[in-house]
Amino acid sequence: MNRIFAKSLTKDHIGQNLTLVGWLEDFRDMGKIGFISARDMTGNFQGVITGNLLSAFREVPRQSIILVNGAIQETRAENFQVEVKVEKVELLSRAVNPLPIDPTGRVESSMDKRLDSRALDLRNVRISNIFRTRSYALYLIRNFLYSRMFMEVNTPKIIGNATEGGADLFSFEYFSKKAYLAQSPQLYKEQLTLGLERVFEISSYFRAEPSHTVRHLSEFVSVDLEAAFLDYCDIMDIVEELITSTINDLFIQRGKEMKYYDNKEEITVDKIPRVSYQKCLDDLKGLGESLQFGDDLSDLALRKLGEIYPKFYFIIDWPTKLKPFYILEHKNKSDLSKSFDLQYGYLEIVSGGTREHNSERLRNKLLEKGLDPRSFSDHLQTFEWGMPPHSGCGIGFDRLMMILTNSTNIREVVLYPRDTERLSP
Ligand code: ATP
Repeated sequence: MNRIFAKSLTKDHIGQNLTLVGWLEDFRDMGKIGFISARDMTGNFQGVITGNLLSAFREVPRQSIILVNGAIQETRAENFQVEVKVEKVELLSRAVNPLPIDPTGRVESSMDKRLDSRALDLRNVRISNIFRTRSYALYLIRNFLYSRMFMEVNTPKIIGNATEGGADLFSFEYFSKKAYLAQSPQLYKEQLTLGLERVFEISSYFRAEPSHTVRHLSEFVSVDLEAAFLDYCDIMDIVEELITSTINDLFIQRGKEMKYYDNKEEITVDKIPRVSYQKCLDDLKGLGESLQFGDDLSDLALRKLGEIYPKFYFIIDWPTKLKPFYILEHKNKSDLSKSFDLQYGYLEIVSGGTREHNSERLRNKLLEKGLDPRSFSDHLQTFEWGMPPHSGCGIGFDRLMMILTNSTNIREVVLYPRDTERLSP
């Protein structure tokens, strides 16, 4: 099909006979003449209809796909440079009437209704914009990581061992065995630093936690990185640069799209403060919330801290007991770990740290956390093959997208979200 996109139409095309395809959005019927507005992936175009074609158009429901052909001519319309004088029209796909939701967004629908009709929901420019930003942010993040000598890898999501600790996993029958869906690529990415030094993976991960919040899903996308010979401060530097450069590049290269979210002032950063866990406890005390060293920062505590630190900030040096077995502790301060979380106000975006790379100490850490080293034998043996000191983190990409697009619900930035209630479409 030799078509031209709406956005490419200019006055230079006047007089040419061209073909356009689009979803019909508006039809203004003035009796002897009619105007249509249809939209393709680049924008809207206007067509003028006269004669017999008018009655044909009266039967076409909105959001049907039309192919129009005709001469390009000057227009008096304010929003268009030119218009098509429709000479031929073909109905490529008829939409039902009424549609389950109004994709122009003029009539609002609940989130649930919109998600039930997600493919149609994406015809709303505000919504498709979010996914264009998401796609471009992934592109920028990949570029950034390549520029820091990371290579992209793919590790298995079907795993035979559920013992990484922390999260509950989905299990299922795998031929005659029990298998699980991966909660993260943690152990694999650490092992890969031995052969590849710097790796990253962008993938979906799974948590069987019955959370009912606007920031948890059962399936979410994480950008994981792991690097040999770097420590947690180096990883924080990388995360800081990744976040700041992604935001800056989005505003520079996708300014029109970013305007929709109206959050430039809030999210533009160059330096991200690093606040120790202990300082957070002191801050919380000042806010009337008394926590002891070793207590986890509850949702309420994080919301209170978010009043002091409403934008991006790192919480560093968490108590060892709050972090997983693979996190290294500080020398001579074994109750403090070389760890960090990146927060945006109350919302946790990233979790990372320096890893334990000594196999004997790792074995002991497993025992201390009540885990059985025998379940980790495949993993532990790699630590005897020249495992480098290494560090890394997992960036919750969907949560980062909430911030970039000023969305209050994670479901807004995920095409087909999965939660305790939703398994389709
Ligand atoms: P939270 O305490 O918020 O449940 P977590 O401590 O379980 O998160 P990690 O296991 O450290 O999270 O995972 C790293 C990052 O992955 C988190 O900082 C978050 O951005 C993201 N993440 C984790 N679980 C989920 C989830 N269920 N839905 C969406 N994103 C998640």
